[in-house]
Amino acid sequence: MYNWGWFNSLFSGVIFGPRKFLHLSFQFFFSFARNKDISVKQLLQAIDLDSIFQLPLTLHAYDEMLNLQQYLNIIPYNPGLDDQWIFIWGNPSYTSSRYYRMVFQNFQAHGIFKKIWKSKCTPRLKFFAWLIFVDRLNTRNMLARRHFNVQPNTFCVMCTGMEEEDITHLFFYCPFASACWSKLGFHWSAHLDPGDKVLDLISQQQMPFIMDIFIMAAWEIWKLHNAKIFDNGTPSIRLWLKNFKCLVKLQLMRVREDLHTPS
Ligand SMILES: [Zn+2]
Repeated sequence: MYNWGWFNSLFSGVIFGPRKFLHLSFQFFFSFARNKDISVKQLLQAIDLDSIFQLPLTLHAYDEMLNLQQYLNIIPYNPGLDDQWIFIWGNPSYTSSRYYRMVFQNFQAHGIFKKIWKSKCTPRLKFFAWLIFVDRLNTRNMLARRHFNVQPNTFCVMCTGMEEEDITHLFFYCPFASACWSKLGFHWSAHLDPGDKVLDLISQQQMPFIMDIFIMAAWEIWKLHNAKIFDNGTPSIRLWLKNFKCLVKLQLMRVREDLHTPS
């Protein structure tokens, strides 16, 4: 009644072991197995189906068995070799980088993140930039989304335009930020998300370190923003430019050291 051919390939090509695979994909059929950790060899040596499964199968389990049979027919199996636990990348040894590559192989991250990690800024600044582009920076809008009691409202503290303080406003369209970017000759394309705006700028400017300059300039805007809220500071374009130049000098020293360090 049952075709034994399908057992030939039972354990091949399974990522974390057959048990999990069978359990997840063929749960009804799997529930009838007498030994849920049986090896291929043991399976092949079984004298009949009754010794491996509790018969009779339900209709559901029988359907799953037919599906499994079809699936297994396409997987090669060498009966001359002992059973071996291997990962889906075809190697019995585990490394976190292999696992990472496998999980994210089909994941397309936004191009801006590559630019961030490749920049010469300090990790702290890179992390800050990452927060901007994943929209996790604690702007007033974000605090409200996290159900903080934002007083007196969620309007931008850097201008008087009564605009919601979110990433796009604070770093791109706020009159204060606009004045800062004008000093650098940066202009933003409308209708693009923040990441695409910066990528668009980079492609237009055709100059090195545009990403670094953006990160440092945005960082100094953020610092003045925080100083106004927490230290009663008075932000001004002059102060921003002074702090920005100072930061650029510091980062430049780092880049020079980097260039002189033999790799
Ligand atoms: Zn504003």
